[in-house]
Amino acid sequence: MAKRPATSDPKKPPHGLIAELAQALERDEFFLVYQPTIDLQTNAFAGVEALIRWRHPQRGVLKPDLFIDELEASGQIVEVGRWALNTACSQGAIWHDKGYRFAVSVNVSPKQFESGEFVDDVAGALAASEFDPALLVLEFSQTTILETKESSLPRLHELKAFGVRFAVDDFEPGRSVLDDLQEFTIDVVKLDRQFIAGMSSSSSAAALVRELVQRGKTRHLQIIASGIENAEQRKQLQIEEVNTGQGYLFSVPHEAEEIDRFLEDFAIFSGKPL
Ligand code: C2E
Ligand code: CA
Repeated sequence: MAKRPATSDPKKPPHGLIAELAQALERDEFFLVYQPTIDLQTNAFAGVEALIRWRHPQRGVLKPDLFIDELEASGQIVEVGRWALNTACSQGAIWHDKGYRFAVSVNVSPKQFESGEFVDDVAGALAASEFDPALLVLEFSQTTILETKESSLPRLHELKAFGVRFAVDDFEPGRSVLDDLQEFTIDVVKLDRQFIAGMSSSSSAAALVRELVQRGKTRHLQIIASGIENAEQRKQLQIEEVNTGQGYLFSVPHEAEEIDRFLEDFAIFSGKPL
């Protein structure tokens, strides 16, 4: 039987793309888009998450699903992740200079975090940009910090000393365990997009969110719901007193210039500066 071509898997990059990926950074083809997070109780602009894109000369703009695993597998993620950190911190400092004060979150991959250079990379990005460390949020998956506990704890402590904050991505109440994360000095918990999508059809999901919010309050955790796509989800989360939301209902990710326009409209709409 003939082998299925590799391109039949939508997540697997076509062969030629892998070779081109190696040069994408030096060719300056990566860029960041930023997706707003919104305070669900006050509707205020709460921050942005930086998300990488690849402007491929022939294929157009490619999303990370198509290349992030490959960057991780080849180890290039260390260099590309450093670029993303530097770019996001520089952009954060530009917003800061314009008078905005909101958090900028940057995704950190497992290999990037495990690399011996990560702490220096964060220090370097903060020093070069003069971005306020208190406004930088590093987003890790649970497995990144739990699976490498012995090495991750001291590293997280070093990073904490800079004054940055940590978020745990893809948190699923019921499956993820808050207690396991306690010692990692987590500041933000991001509720998984799939979990939010299933929330309206599951009575136990709302109870799990309620419990998480209550526990979050005593631990001063910010809870962010990811992937809010409709008003019903938003309302349900608001009722459960989830602080912050992110999703297509509010905004898709945009380049920095469009975020600037979004911020201006937002200030006019809310009648107050951010
Ligand atoms: P993530 O960290 O879970 O990021 C959220 C993803 O959900 C983003 O996809 C975002 O565009 C998408 N999203 C946001 N709101 C909605 C919504 O309402 N509905 C739906 N269906 N999707 C929504 P994106 O940009 O394609 O990124 C995919 C993943 O790639 C990210 O998932 C993250 O794990 C990774 N990634 C992105 N940028 C970076 C980066 O700079 N470094 C590293 N290491 N990973 C990154
Ligand atoms: Ca994320």
